[in-house]
Amino acid sequence: MIFKSLNPDISVPEDLTLWDWLFESSTSPLRGHAPSKLAGFTNAATKERVRYDEVKSHATHISTALVHKFGLSAGDTVALFSPNSVWYPIAMFATNRIDYEGGVISGASPAYNVEEMTYALKTAQAKVLMTATSSLPVAVPAAQNAGISKDRIILLEGQAEGFSTIKDLLRLGREAGTNQVAPFRIPVGKTNKDVCGFLSFSSGTTGLPKAVMIAHSNVIAQSLQVAQITSEDHTKVLAVLPLFHITGLVHQMHLPVFRNAEVYMLPAFSMKSMLSTIVEYRITEILLVPPILIRLLRDPIVQNYDLSHVQKFSSGAAPLSAEVIQALSRRFPRTGFKQGYGMTESCSCITAHPLDKATYEYAHRVGTIVANTEVKIIDPDTGKELGSNEQGEILARGPQVVMGYLNNEKATREAFDADNWLHTGDVGFIDDEGFITITDRIKEMIKVKGIAVAPAELEDLLLGHPMVEDVAVGAISDDYTGQRPKAYVVLKPSARQGKSKSQVLPLLDEIIEYVRQNKVRHKWVTEVEMLEEIPKSASGKILRRTLRELEKTPRTEE
Ligand code: AMP
Repeated sequence: MIFKSLNPDISVPEDLTLWDWLFESSTSPLRGHAPSKLAGFTNAATKERVRYDEVKSHATHISTALVHKFGLSAGDTVALFSPNSVWYPIAMFATNRIDYEGGVISGASPAYNVEEMTYALKTAQAKVLMTATSSLPVAVPAAQNAGISKDRIILLEGQAEGFSTIKDLLRLGREAGTNQVAPFRIPVGKTNKDVCGFLSFSSGTTGLPKAVMIAHSNVIAQSLQVAQITSEDHTKVLAVLPLFHITGLVHQMHLPVFRNAEVYMLPAFSMKSMLSTIVEYRITEILLVPPILIRLLRDPIVQNYDLSHVQKFSSGAAPLSAEVIQALSRRFPRTGFKQGYGMTESCSCITAHPLDKATYEYAHRVGTIVANTEVKIIDPDTGKELGSNEQGEILARGPQVVMGYLNNEKATREAFDADNWLHTGDVGFIDDEGFITITDRIKEMIKVKGIAVAPAELEDLLLGHPMVEDVAVGAISDDYTGQRPKAYVVLKPSARQGKSKSQVLPLLDEIIEYVRQNKVRHKWVTEVEMLEEIPKSASGKILRRTLRELEKTPRTEE
């Protein structure tokens, strides 16, 4: 059975680029408002504010400089590797504006280490790297590994000897005068569905992180879908979530420009800076992830702030437990609540709460299907379509479902089937009111504080450890971070030989340390268990379901 959205259909323009849609078209806020009435991006720490008409003019100059200085063209990729900054969206719009096929932006987590950043740059085939002075110790060697010369590293924030800054590009673009580069327009015979604007990293349902190709149409459609169920008075957006993630891309950059809403960027997260910003700017609707909502309940500093003006909390990116929802309803009884559910491959939301149901009563469900979108629930073993209230894998189809994975046809075919259904790897059901409840995740992904971790990436690393014969990585629950990676290892006979179990245990700590040395914090394994053999299918695939069952069975201490 196919479940359709209960929301009225929306019309998604197919002939506009993101640039035209946001800054030039009849629906652009720049057309409907005098400059003095335009909102903008503000750095909540430094108070630097750039109004949306200035964003447009800065991006125009910077895209001109990117073409003149670096000769960027034909879908060339610019990587953004930086904490949240008002210059992040400007660099992004500048790149997307570039003439011909439009430039492509690839965002990377500012927490990446050199190895992870090298992988991201190489996979996205980036030609220019925009970063911040604080990220240079990783950016410089990673760029070198990926063949990006030093003169192609641009600083979005700060200054460092020998590096150009985004303001240098701005100056260069301005100097071009009448020689400004025209904005990219959709070529005849194509639509905005054919033009990739972004590469975001996701491991999808299996394997290593892949570059997800997000079309201009996906971001326009998703922004319109979410705008339809956003209240008129949500005019101030707190940008506390990282901008490189799909949630930041849509909800903290594109959607606010379209809605002419103010955005307050937090360059570095702390409870103090977040709470002060909410209070200082009287932000009424706040999009967070479960670990931050948990800190709102646990951190004593919260008592020092009057949050009574907050009308709504919004949560996404990971499951929220019933206990947390209950505790929030007790602590903030007059505040509304909503969730969004989706993934990078659906350019953010597949479901979200409708405006009239944004209350704690509905908070444990992830909302109803957004406009123009269909959902199917299937039996993951047989593929049989299921009805309402029956639990199975969630499939989604709609204008926000992305183009596929860059240079990876096999993974694309596995995740997006011939009828354009995205296989989410999440398990849940739809009830009689049209709400989806998520009950499980059958894909390999582990979510730590809302950030996806690919088991295959940790398995690749651990197979390189001299003591490890074989390995599988699974997830264990954690009431603060949601999940944590756990490694199941088979040690090499040489490592085990002649040792009792108690003598082997310190070796397992070495494995934990090895991951800490090589991976960014949220990927650290917190537990290692020794197995005689990794459960595998006849074709050699790790049986992850068996690992999950193993985790549920009580162990006896020897
Ligand atoms: P990402 O691509 O990093 O956004 O991760 C997408 C995955 O996060 C989904 O496939 C789900 O497993 C999980 N997820 C996102 N939103 C929710 C939610 N509201 N409740 C439960 N899980 C979620």
